[in-house]
Amino acid sequence: MEAFGGLAVAVVVIVVMVFVAPRLMGGNTITCTRCDGTGQINERWPDPSEVSGFHVAKGVCPKCKGKGKVKT
Ligand SMILES: [Zn+2]
Repeated sequence: MEAFGGLAVAVVVIVVMVFVAPRLMGGNTITCTRCDGTGQINERWPDPSEVSGFHVAKGVCPKCKGKGKVKT
């Protein structure tokens, strides 16, 4: 039972680190939906409102400015 108890404590610690720590450190931030949290975008799709007829955007995500997270 000694080993089982140690494993249970380890699991609890891991759960706390994964789910609680980011909330304490990051505040009210969510993963950017435009770049999916990568901070980089590579977009190209037809867009009649653009001069070229296509929406094209590459590089740093303008929504989160490359951080991958946006404040709510
Ligand atoms: Zn982004």
